[in-house]
Amino acid sequence: MERTIVHLDMDAYFASIEQRDFPIYRGKPLLVCHTDDIASNRGVVSAASYEAREYGVKSAMTVVEARKRCPNGIYVPGNYDRYLENTKRLIKLCGEYSDVVEVYSIDEMFLDITRTQRFFGGTEKTVLAIQRAIGKTIKLSASVGAGPNKTVAKMASELGKPGGLAVISLEDLPNAFAPLPVTDIPGIGRQNSKHLAVLGIKTIGELASSSEKLLRKKFGVIGAALRRAALGLDGSPVLQNSGRVPVKSFGHSSSLGNGTQDIERLKKDLLTLIEGATSRMRKEGYLGRTACVYLCFARLFSASRQRSLSGHTDLTGDLYPVALGLLSKELTNIARYPVTKIGFSATNLIDKDAGRQLCIYGELDGKEAAFTAAADELRDKYGSGVLIRASTMEVKNRYRAVPKSELSLQVNPIPPGRATRRVL
Ligand SMILES: [Mg+2]
Repeated sequence: MERTIVHLDMDAYFASIEQRDFPIYRGKPLLVCHTDDIASNRGVVSAASYEAREYGVKSAMTVVEARKRCPNGIYVPGNYDRYLENTKRLIKLCGEYSDVVEVYSIDEMFLDITRTQRFFGGTEKTVLAIQRAIGKTIKLSASVGAGPNKTVAKMASELGKPGGLAVISLEDLPNAFAPLPVTDIPGIGRQNSKHLAVLGIKTIGELASSSEKLLRKKFGVIGAALRRAALGLDGSPVLQNSGRVPVKSFGHSSSLGNGTQDIERLKKDLLTLIEGATSRMRKEGYLGRTACVYLCFARLFSASRQRSLSGHTDLTGDLYPVALGLLSKELTNIARYPVTKIGFSATNLIDKDAGRQLCIYGELDGKEAAFTAAADELRDKYGSGVLIRASTMEVKNRYRAVPKSELSLQVNPIPPGRATRRVL
Protein backbone atom coordinates (compact mmCIF):
# COMPACT_ATOMS: atom_id res chain seq x y z
CA MET A 1 0.00 0.00 0.00
CA GLU A 2 1.28 3.41 -0.89
CA ARG A 3 2.03 5.39 2.23
CA THR A 4 0.67 8.83 3.02
CA ILE A 5 2.73 10.88 5.44
CA VAL A 6 1.79 14.30 6.79
CA HIS A 7 4.28 16.85 8.07
CA LEU A 8 2.98 19.59 10.26
CA ASP A 9 5.04 22.68 10.98
CA MET A 10 3.73 25.45 13.18
CA ASP A 11 4.16 28.98 11.81
CA ALA A 12 6.41 31.28 13.87
CA TYR A 13 5.42 29.05 16.76
CA PHE A 14 6.64 30.81 19.93
CA ALA A 15 5.84 34.25 18.54
CA SER A 16 2.37 33.12 17.44
CA ILE A 17 1.62 31.74 20.91
CA GLU A 18 2.61 35.07 22.47
CA GLN A 19 0.48 36.99 19.97
CA ARG A 20 -2.46 34.68 20.64
CA ASP A 21 -2.14 35.02 24.42
CA PHE A 22 -1.34 38.73 24.51
CA PRO A 23 -3.45 40.73 22.01
CA ILE A 24 -1.19 43.74 22.52
CA TYR A 25 1.51 41.92 20.50
CA ARG A 26 -0.74 41.20 17.52
CA GLY A 27 0.20 42.81 14.23
CA LYS A 28 3.53 43.91 15.68
CA PRO A 29 7.12 42.84 15.13
CA LEU A 30 7.58 40.49 18.08
CA LEU A 31 10.82 38.71 18.93
CA VAL A 32 10.92 35.87 21.41
CA CYS A 33 14.47 35.62 22.70
CA HIS A 34 16.52 32.99 24.42
CA THR A 35 18.46 35.10 26.87
CA ASP A 36 19.39 35.40 30.53
CA ASP A 37 18.44 39.08 30.53
CA ILE A 38 15.94 40.54 28.10
CA ALA A 39 17.13 44.09 28.82
CA SER A 40 20.60 43.19 27.57
CA ASN A 41 21.85 42.52 24.09
CA ARG A 42 22.75 38.96 24.95
CA GLY A 43 21.17 35.84 23.57
CA VAL A 44 19.58 34.74 20.35
CA VAL A 45 16.19 35.13 18.73
CA SER A 46 14.25 31.90 19.11
CA ALA A 47 11.21 33.04 17.13
CA ALA A 48 10.25 36.11 15.13
CA SER A 49 6.68 37.05 14.21
CA TYR A 50 5.99 37.51 10.51
CA GLU A 51 5.82 41.26 11.12
CA ALA A 52 9.38 41.10 12.48
CA ARG A 53 10.57 38.96 9.58
CA GLU A 54 9.82 41.85 7.25
CA TYR A 55 12.79 43.59 8.85
CA GLY A 56 15.03 40.67 7.94
CA VAL A 57 15.03 39.16 11.42
CA LYS A 58 15.20 35.39 11.59
CA SER A 59 15.32 32.85 14.37
CA ALA A 60 18.81 31.91 15.57
CA MET A 61 20.00 35.46 14.86
CA THR A 62 21.79 37.17 17.76
CA VAL A 63 19.76 39.72 19.68
CA VAL A 64 22.43 42.31 18.85
CA GLU A 65 21.88 41.78 15.12
CA ALA A 66 18.09 41.70 15.51
CA ARG A 67 18.03 45.01 17.39
CA LYS A 68 20.05 46.58 14.59
CA ARG A 69 17.59 45.42 11.95
CA CYS A 70 14.45 45.88 13.96
CA PRO A 71 15.06 48.54 16.62
CA ASN A 72 11.35 49.10 17.24
CA GLY A 73 10.52 45.43 17.70
CA ILE A 74 9.05 44.08 20.91
CA TYR A 75 11.59 41.81 22.59
CA VAL A 76 10.30 39.29 25.09
CA PRO A 77 11.86 36.31 26.88
CA GLY A 78 10.57 32.87 25.97
CA ASN A 79 8.14 31.01 28.17
CA TYR A 80 9.02 27.46 27.25
CA ASP A 81 6.69 25.76 29.73
CA ARG A 82 3.75 27.48 28.07
CA TYR A 83 5.00 26.49 24.60
CA LEU A 84 5.40 22.91 25.75
CA GLU A 85 1.80 22.90 27.02
CA ASN A 86 0.68 23.94 23.53
CA THR A 87 2.74 21.18 21.98
CA LYS A 88 1.08 18.64 24.24
CA ARG A 89 -2.34 19.82 23.05
CA LEU A 90 -1.07 19.59 19.50
CA ILE A 91 0.16 16.03 19.98
CA LYS A 92 -3.24 15.07 21.38
CA LEU A 93 -5.02 16.66 18.45
CA CYS A 94 -2.79 14.84 15.94
CA GLY A 95 -3.68 11.59 17.68
CA GLU A 96 -7.26 12.08 16.53
CA TYR A 97 -6.18 11.82 12.91
CA SER A 98 -3.50 9.17 13.04
CA ASP A 99 -2.42 6.26 15.18
CA VAL A 100 1.23 6.89 14.34
CA VAL A 101 2.47 10.33 15.38
CA GLU A 102 6.14 11.24 15.57
CA VAL A 103 6.94 14.35 17.57
CA TYR A 104 9.88 15.63 15.58
CA SER A 105 10.50 18.85 17.51
CA ILE A 106 8.57 21.24 19.71
CA ASP A 107 6.68 22.55 16.69
CA GLU A 108 6.91 19.82 14.08
CA MET A 109 5.27 16.43 13.79
CA PHE A 110 4.93 13.62 11.33
CA LEU A 111 1.70 11.66 11.02
CA ASP A 112 1.31 8.45 9.09
CA ILE A 113 -2.27 8.71 7.81
CA THR A 114 -2.06 5.73 5.44
CA ARG A 115 -4.64 3.75 7.40
CA THR A 116 -6.72 6.57 8.85
CA GLN A 117 -7.25 8.99 5.96
CA ARG A 118 -10.24 7.10 4.60
CA PHE A 119 -12.22 8.03 7.72
CA PHE A 120 -11.86 11.69 6.81
CA GLY A 121 -12.50 11.41 3.09
CA GLY A 122 -9.02 11.01 1.65
CA THR A 123 -5.66 12.77 1.86
CA GLU A 124 -6.71 16.31 0.93
CA LYS A 125 -9.65 16.35 3.30
CA THR A 126 -7.61 14.90 6.14
CA VAL A 127 -4.82 17.48 5.96
CA LEU A 128 -7.36 20.27 5.63
CA ALA A 129 -9.23 18.93 8.67
CA ILE A 130 -6.01 18.83 10.72
CA GLN A 131 -5.07 22.36 9.75
CA ARG A 132 -8.57 23.67 10.50
CA ALA A 133 -8.72 21.87 13.84
CA ILE A 134 -5.44 23.48 14.90
CA GLY A 135 -6.80 26.88 13.92
CA LYS A 136 -10.10 26.32 15.65
CA THR A 137 -9.13 24.63 18.90
CA ILE A 138 -5.55 25.80 19.49
CA LYS A 139 -5.97 29.10 17.61
CA LEU A 140 -2.64 28.84 15.85
CA SER A 141 -1.55 28.67 12.24
CA ALA A 142 0.18 25.60 10.85
CA SER A 143 1.69 24.70 7.51
CA VAL A 144 0.83 21.20 6.45
CA GLY A 145 2.31 19.01 3.76
CA ALA A 146 1.53 15.49 2.66
CA GLY A 147 3.43 13.08 0.49
CA PRO A 148 4.45 9.47 -0.01
CA ASN A 149 7.24 9.78 2.59
CA LYS A 150 8.69 12.01 5.28
CA THR A 151 11.13 13.89 3.07
CA VAL A 152 8.44 14.84 0.56
CA ALA A 153 5.93 15.71 3.30
CA LYS A 154 8.45 17.99 5.01
CA MET A 155 9.31 19.73 1.76
CA ALA A 156 5.62 20.07 0.93
CA SER A 157 4.88 21.82 4.22
CA GLU A 158 7.54 24.40 3.32
CA LEU A 159 5.95 25.28 0.00
CA GLY A 160 3.24 27.65 1.17
CA LYS A 161 4.44 28.85 4.55
CA PRO A 162 2.73 30.37 6.51
CA GLY A 163 -0.62 28.66 6.46
CA GLY A 164 0.47 26.45 3.57
CA LEU A 165 -1.24 23.27 2.50
CA ALA A 166 0.28 21.02 -0.12
CA VAL A 167 -0.27 17.44 -1.14
CA ILE A 168 2.42 15.96 -3.37
CA SER A 169 1.63 12.59 -4.91
CA LEU A 170 4.07 10.03 -6.23
CA GLU A 171 3.19 11.09 -9.79
CA ASP A 172 4.06 14.73 -9.05
CA LEU A 173 7.62 13.66 -8.26
CA PRO A 174 10.30 14.70 -8.89
CA ASN A 175 8.91 17.60 -10.94
CA ALA A 176 7.20 19.25 -7.97
CA PHE A 177 10.52 20.30 -6.46
CA ALA A 178 12.73 20.34 -9.57
CA PRO A 179 13.35 24.10 -9.71
CA LEU A 180 14.13 24.43 -5.99
CA PRO A 181 17.73 24.64 -4.74
CA VAL A 182 19.26 21.39 -3.43
CA THR A 183 19.49 22.96 0.04
CA ASP A 184 15.68 22.66 0.26
CA ILE A 185 16.13 18.91 0.69
CA PRO A 186 16.16 18.22 4.42
CA GLY A 187 19.59 17.00 5.39
CA ILE A 188 21.57 18.56 2.55
CA GLY A 189 23.73 21.08 4.30
CA ARG A 190 25.86 23.90 3.06
CA GLN A 191 28.88 21.65 2.75
CA ASN A 192 27.24 19.10 0.46
CA SER A 193 25.59 21.81 -1.60
CA LYS A 194 29.01 23.38 -2.17
CA HIS A 195 30.40 20.10 -3.45
CA LEU A 196 27.35 19.67 -5.67
CA ALA A 197 27.73 23.19 -7.05
CA VAL A 198 31.25 22.26 -8.17
CA LEU A 199 29.66 19.52 -10.28
CA GLY A 200 27.24 22.10 -11.72
CA ILE A 201 24.33 20.74 -9.68
CA LYS A 202 22.31 23.50 -8.07
CA THR A 203 18.68 22.49 -8.29
CA ILE A 204 16.82 19.42 -7.12
CA GLY A 205 15.94 18.63 -10.73
CA GLU A 206 19.61 18.68 -11.72
CA LEU A 207 20.46 16.39 -8.83
CA ALA A 208 17.66 13.98 -9.70
CA SER A 209 18.81 13.68 -13.30
CA SER A 210 22.54 13.45 -12.58
CA SER A 211 24.43 10.20 -12.93
CA GLU A 212 24.50 8.02 -9.86
CA LYS A 213 27.94 6.79 -10.84
CA LEU A 214 29.33 10.32 -10.74
CA LEU A 215 27.70 11.05 -7.38
CA ARG A 216 29.00 7.81 -5.91
CA LYS A 217 32.49 8.64 -7.12
CA LYS A 218 32.35 12.07 -5.55
CA PHE A 219 30.41 11.35 -2.34
CA GLY A 220 30.65 7.61 -1.78
CA VAL A 221 27.53 5.93 -0.43
CA ILE A 222 26.02 9.32 0.44
CA GLY A 223 25.96 10.09 -3.30
CA ALA A 224 23.25 7.54 -3.96
CA ALA A 225 21.28 8.77 -0.95
CA LEU A 226 21.45 12.36 -2.19
CA ARG A 227 20.07 11.36 -5.56
CA ARG A 228 17.33 9.26 -3.98
CA ALA A 229 16.30 12.24 -1.85
CA ALA A 230 16.14 14.45 -4.94
CA LEU A 231 13.95 11.86 -6.63
CA GLY A 232 11.65 12.03 -3.61
CA LEU A 233 12.44 8.50 -2.48
CA ASP A 234 12.60 7.94 1.26
CA GLY A 235 11.62 4.76 3.01
CA SER A 236 12.12 5.90 6.60
CA PRO A 237 9.14 5.15 8.83
CA VAL A 238 7.24 7.59 11.02
CA LEU A 239 8.58 6.73 14.44
CA GLN A 240 5.93 6.66 17.04
CA ASN A 241 7.53 8.13 20.13
CA SER A 242 6.08 8.41 23.58
CA GLY A 243 4.37 11.65 22.62
CA ARG A 244 7.14 13.62 24.27
CA VAL A 245 8.97 16.50 22.73
CA PRO A 246 12.50 15.31 22.12
CA VAL A 247 14.96 17.33 24.16
CA LYS A 248 18.45 17.76 22.73
CA SER A 249 20.24 18.98 25.82
CA PHE A 250 19.86 20.05 29.40
CA GLY A 251 21.91 23.13 30.03
CA HIS A 252 22.31 25.71 32.71
CA SER A 253 24.55 28.74 32.70
CA SER A 254 25.22 31.70 34.90
CA SER A 255 26.63 35.14 34.29
CA LEU A 256 29.47 36.21 36.52
CA GLY A 257 29.23 40.01 36.18
CA ASN A 258 32.65 41.42 35.51
CA GLY A 259 34.11 37.97 35.77
CA THR A 260 36.17 35.88 38.13
CA GLN A 261 39.51 34.06 37.97
CA ASP A 262 38.93 32.21 41.22
CA ILE A 263 39.12 28.55 40.24
CA GLU A 264 37.48 27.35 43.49
CA ARG A 265 34.51 29.64 42.84
CA LEU A 266 34.25 28.33 39.27
CA LYS A 267 34.27 24.73 40.50
CA LYS A 268 31.45 25.49 42.92
CA ASP A 269 29.46 27.31 40.25
CA LEU A 270 29.94 24.39 37.90
CA LEU A 271 28.66 22.00 40.54
CA THR A 272 25.54 24.09 41.08
CA LEU A 273 24.91 24.20 37.33
CA ILE A 274 25.29 20.45 37.02
CA GLU A 275 22.95 19.91 39.98
CA GLY A 276 20.37 22.05 38.19
CA ALA A 277 20.75 20.21 34.91
CA THR A 278 20.72 16.68 36.35
CA SER A 279 17.79 17.50 38.61
CA ARG A 280 15.77 18.46 35.53
CA MET A 281 16.99 15.38 33.67
CA ARG A 282 15.81 13.10 36.45
CA LYS A 283 12.48 14.87 36.64
CA GLU A 284 11.89 14.55 32.92
CA GLY A 285 13.37 11.08 32.63
CA TYR A 286 16.47 11.61 30.51
CA LEU A 287 20.00 10.27 30.68
CA GLY A 288 22.93 12.06 29.04
CA ARG A 289 26.24 10.79 27.78
CA THR A 290 28.19 13.93 26.90
CA ALA A 291 29.25 16.67 29.30
CA CYS A 292 29.87 20.14 27.85
CA VAL A 293 31.47 23.02 29.66
CA TYR A 294 31.22 26.48 28.25
CA LEU A 295 33.22 29.51 29.35
CA CYS A 296 33.09 33.10 28.20
CA PHE A 297 36.24 35.10 28.86
CA ALA A 298 36.14 38.85 29.50
CA ARG A 299 33.04 38.99 27.25
CA LEU A 300 35.52 38.70 24.38
CA PHE A 301 35.68 35.09 23.37
CA SER A 302 34.26 31.80 24.43
CA ALA A 303 35.46 28.26 24.65
CA SER A 304 33.46 25.11 24.89
CA ARG A 305 34.78 21.66 25.59
CA GLN A 306 33.02 18.39 25.70
CA ARG A 307 33.68 14.80 26.56
CA SER A 308 31.58 11.71 26.24
CA LEU A 309 31.29 9.18 29.01
CA SER A 310 31.29 5.46 28.50
CA GLY A 311 27.56 5.28 29.28
CA HIS A 312 24.48 7.35 30.05
CA THR A 313 23.79 8.97 33.39
CA ASP A 314 21.66 11.54 35.18
CA LEU A 315 23.83 11.81 38.26
CA THR A 316 25.92 14.78 39.31
CA GLY A 317 28.46 12.37 40.75
CA ASP A 318 29.16 10.99 37.27
CA LEU A 319 29.16 14.26 35.37
CA TYR A 320 30.95 16.55 37.81
CA PRO A 321 34.41 14.93 37.71
CA VAL A 322 34.30 14.95 33.92
CA ALA A 323 33.25 18.61 33.86
CA LEU A 324 36.10 19.46 36.23
CA GLY A 325 38.50 17.78 33.85
CA LEU A 326 37.18 19.95 31.03
CA LEU A 327 37.45 23.06 33.18
CA SER A 328 41.07 22.22 33.98
CA LYS A 329 41.90 22.36 30.26
CA GLU A 330 41.07 26.06 30.36
CA LEU A 331 43.35 26.95 33.27
CA THR A 332 45.71 28.93 31.04
CA ASN A 333 42.89 31.08 29.73
CA ILE A 334 41.42 31.47 33.22
CA ALA A 335 44.79 32.72 34.46
CA ARG A 336 44.78 35.36 31.73
CA TYR A 337 41.16 36.44 31.48
CA PRO A 338 38.26 36.70 33.91
CA VAL A 339 35.46 34.23 33.25
CA THR A 340 32.29 36.26 32.67
CA LYS A 341 30.00 33.34 32.07
CA ILE A 342 30.06 29.66 32.82
CA GLY A 343 27.74 27.04 31.47
CA PHE A 344 27.20 23.34 31.57
CA SER A 345 25.07 21.10 29.44
CA ALA A 346 24.45 17.41 29.11
CA THR A 347 23.79 16.16 25.58
CA ASN A 348 23.53 12.88 23.71
CA LEU A 349 20.34 12.18 25.58
CA ILE A 350 18.28 9.05 25.72
CA ASP A 351 15.00 8.14 27.31
CA LYS A 352 15.62 6.91 30.81
CA ASP A 353 13.37 3.86 30.40
CA ALA A 354 15.52 2.77 27.48
CA GLY A 355 18.87 2.99 29.19
CA ARG A 356 19.05 2.64 32.95
CA GLN A 357 21.17 -0.46 32.71
CA LEU A 358 23.74 1.50 30.72
CA CYS A 359 24.49 3.71 33.70
CA ILE A 360 28.17 4.47 33.76
CA TYR A 361 30.86 3.38 36.16
CA GLY A 362 29.28 0.03 36.82
CA GLU A 363 26.46 -0.40 39.25
CA LEU A 364 24.75 2.63 40.59
CA ASP A 365 26.05 3.47 44.02
CA GLY A 366 23.08 3.00 46.35
CA LYS A 367 24.08 5.90 48.54
CA GLU A 368 24.37 8.28 45.63
CA ALA A 369 20.95 7.22 44.33
CA ALA A 370 19.32 7.68 47.74
CA PHE A 371 20.95 11.05 48.24
CA THR A 372 19.86 12.13 44.81
CA ALA A 373 16.24 11.13 45.36
CA ALA A 374 16.14 12.97 48.69
CA ALA A 375 17.78 16.04 47.23
CA ASP A 376 15.31 16.16 44.33
CA GLU A 377 12.44 16.09 46.78
CA LEU A 378 13.88 18.94 48.82
CA ARG A 379 14.51 21.02 45.73
CA ASP A 380 10.97 20.47 44.54
CA LYS A 381 9.64 21.66 47.89
CA TYR A 382 11.95 24.53 48.69
CA GLY A 383 13.58 25.59 45.43
CA SER A 384 16.90 24.81 43.86
CA GLY A 385 18.93 26.93 46.30
CA VAL A 386 18.08 24.80 49.30
CA LEU A 387 20.86 22.28 48.91
CA ILE A 388 24.51 22.89 48.29
CA ARG A 389 26.81 19.93 48.16
CA ALA A 390 29.67 19.66 50.57
CA SER A 391 31.56 17.69 47.96
CA THR A 392 33.37 20.76 46.64
CA MET A 393 35.62 20.08 49.62
CA GLU A 394 37.02 17.02 47.97
CA VAL A 395 37.28 18.30 44.46
CA LYS A 396 41.01 17.83 44.41
CA ASN A 397 40.74 14.09 44.68
CA ARG A 398 37.89 13.85 42.22
CA TYR A 399 39.76 16.10 39.88
CA ARG A 400 42.75 13.78 39.67
CA ALA A 401 40.52 10.83 39.04
CA VAL A 402 39.34 12.26 35.74
CA PRO A 403 40.32 10.05 32.84
CA LYS A 404 41.98 11.41 29.72
CA SER A 405 39.47 13.25 27.62
CA GLU A 406 38.69 13.40 23.97
CA LEU A 407 38.61 17.11 23.52
CA SER A 408 37.19 19.52 21.11
CA LEU A 409 38.10 23.13 21.65
CA GLN A 410 36.15 25.75 19.91
CA VAL A 411 37.12 29.35 20.34
CA ASN A 412 34.73 31.89 18.97
CA PRO A 413 36.28 35.32 18.77
CA ILE A 414 33.72 38.07 19.11
CA PRO A 415 34.65 41.41 17.59
CA PRO A 416 34.98 44.21 20.15
CA GLY A 417 31.82 46.27 20.55
CA ARG A 418 29.72 43.23 19.78
CA ALA A 419 30.15 41.57 23.10
CA THR A 420 27.57 38.87 23.10
CA ARG A 421 27.40 35.44 24.57
CA ARG A 422 26.20 32.30 23.08
CA VAL A 423 23.31 31.00 25.09
CA LEU A 424 23.63 27.38 25.93
MG1 LIG B 1 7.92 26.03 12.67
